[in-house]
Amino acid sequence: MSALEGEAAIVTGGGRGIGRAIVRRLLADGSNVLACGRGARPDDLESPVKWIQADVSRSSDAKRVVDAAMTVFGRVSILVNNAGIQVEKTVPQTTDDDWDTVIGVNCKGVFNMCREVIPLMETNGGSIVNVGSISGNVADPSMAIYNASKSFVHGLTRSIAVDHGPKVRCNAVSPGWIMTEMATEGFALAKDPERAITDAVARHPSGRLGKPEDVANAIAWLLDRQAGFVTGQCFIIDGGLTSASPLRPGLF
Ligand code: NDP
Repeated sequence: MSALEGEAAIVTGGGRGIGRAIVRRLLADGSNVLACGRGARPDDLESPVKWIQADVSRSSDAKRVVDAAMTVFGRVSILVNNAGIQVEKTVPQTTDDDWDTVIGVNCKGVFNMCREVIPLMETNGGSIVNVGSISGNVADPSMAIYNASKSFVHGLTRSIAVDHGPKVRCNAVSPGWIMTEMATEGFALAKDPERAITDAVARHPSGRLGKPEDVANAIAWLLDRQAGFVTGQCFIIDGGLTSASPLRPGLF
């Protein structure tokens, strides 16, 4: 039997990038999966996956996603809050609209989804994984409210674990540089993006940047019963980037 055989999973932002890799991994492990995003169902989305067009920053949409999962699966045992967006700005550059968008998706979206599923999981048990970021621990330049939004995700994760165990386990992952559209946009901000990527790789003890599957693999373990004693934690998946001293290795 596969590790997550027969589980009923929701993956937000499951249409591309890290979310898509999570969807594929959960399917491979035997879960039933419902994914959502603001756009239409991606043409190449695996056929067993249910798709709901929804914006998780709206509480009514979050409810619609969970209601749809209850209709098709009869329960929700897994929630992966992956949907997230970034705005590359400092505090003075950030507009009210930027605030509403980033905090709306990255903070309120995670909150909305958790608020809908926790009462269901408190009855039948379940596991939540929120996608935070190393940016919630260390500040990426010109990403002020994105960085802050991910710190919120880490804090909410701990609160849910404390308030809703033992029926609900809640953990977070903090990816580093994972090569998706979002990361490409981040590197594009550099004066010389090619050089920025080469420099970034050199700072990774892993010798490479991350792949969406690196995050999906860690999430699959956190959702598995083998991680039954793990809750309220935030796991860094960054190829060792933030373990390194900021002193330049070449000078020592
Ligand atoms: P992408 O931009 O490639 O994908 C983000 C996904 O989220 C898309 O499918 C998007 O679909 C969906 N989404 C965005 N807003 C909403 C919304 N309001 N409601 C529902 N779905 C939404 O990003 P990544 O795959 O790179 O990132 C996934 C997660 O990982 C994010 O939370 C991000 O912050 C985090 N992360 C990524 C890192 C990286 O290096 N890539 C590093 C650290 C963390 P649509 O636009 O159709 O709504």
